[in-house]
Amino acid sequence: MTEVRAKKNLGQHFLKDKNIAANIVDALHGSAPRKVLEIGPGMGVLTQFLLKKEDYSTSVIEIDRESVEYLKLNYPELEDRIISGDFLRYDLNGFSTDHFSVIGNFPYNISSQIFFKVLENREKIDEVVCMIQKEVAERLAAGPGSKTYGILSVLLQAWYKIDYLFTVHENVFSPPPKVKSAVIRLERNDVATLGCDEKLFTQVIKAGFNQRRKTLRNSLKSIVPNSESIDAFFLANRPEQLSVDEFIELTKQVEIAKRAI
Ligand code: SAH
Repeated sequence: MTEVRAKKNLGQHFLKDKNIAANIVDALHGSAPRKVLEIGPGMGVLTQFLLKKEDYSTSVIEIDRESVEYLKLNYPELEDRIISGDFLRYDLNGFSTDHFSVIGNFPYNISSQIFFKVLENREKIDEVVCMIQKEVAERLAAGPGSKTYGILSVLLQAWYKIDYLFTVHENVFSPPPKVKSAVIRLERNDVATLGCDEKLFTQVIKAGFNQRRKTLRNSLKSIVPNSESIDAFFLANRPEQLSVDEFIELTKQVEIAKRAI
């Protein structure tokens, strides 16, 4: 069958280098047997290596009808494990009652939304291996003190250990993207609860990073007008200075201050 015509609005950049594809699949760590969900298989460059792993049960979800037809013809063994649809709208509870791994060369235009969905499903998704835009990969893996540390870095690192694995040059794709790419791995840590109000935790992080040049004393005013009881160390800092654990402690203190209003 002829190749799938790349559609820009779906973020389609097809990986042409099979060695890189094999390395991405080999980066999955989780113990076998395991269920794997590939997001955006396109023409199956990763899928072909996933199917070679006998102790993996691989399903794929693809929004592009033309790619779905291509996969059905070229990988008949995938059979009914091709989900034709939008990952962002797909109900993952229906997909699996077990834990599973997520893999994919993600469509870069929706990678943040994919990570927010991973966070919502963190009790089932115990691992993610993905290729994303290099700058985003650096941001997610960054620690406090780094200029690129941001909302998703803190939220994801609260629940996942993140490793930046390797950088991928644009010329191994067709068509080549305008940006460099990188492969990262997220592995669920053993944190069951943060020990603070988790919604408030997200609010505190968002309020902080939405005005990242301001001190937390300023940016938290919208959440907690009476910040006197909060540790001055937190208030005097900018959000990029705080570790995940410090954001948790700060959230606990914000919770107490809010109760005192
Ligand atoms: N894995 C292939 C394709 C990567 S391009 C490769 O490495 O060559 C990104 C893929 O994600 C495309 O196939 C695109 O159609 C698909 N995609 C884009 N948005 C999607 C969505 N919301 N849900 C599922 N797949 C999506």
